[in-house]
Amino acid sequence: MITHEFDHALFLGDYELGEGWGNRSIMSHERDRTKIYTPQTHDINEVHSYMNR
Ligand SMILES: [Zn+2]
Repeated sequence: MITHEFDHALFLGDYELGEGWGNRSIMSHERDRTKIYTPQTHDINEVHSYMNR
C-alpha cells in the first residue's frame, strides 16, 4: 500500500512509536497496518490545513 509513502511526498512526517497516535493517523508507525491503510480524519484535516496556507 503506497498511501503512507505518498503522504510523505505530500507533506507528512511520521509519528514514531511511543508518540501515542495508535490507529489515528496513516503516518503513525503504531497503527495496525492490516486495518489502517487509508488517510484517517486527522490526516485529511492536515492536508486541508496545508493546502489552505
Ligand atoms: Zn514513514
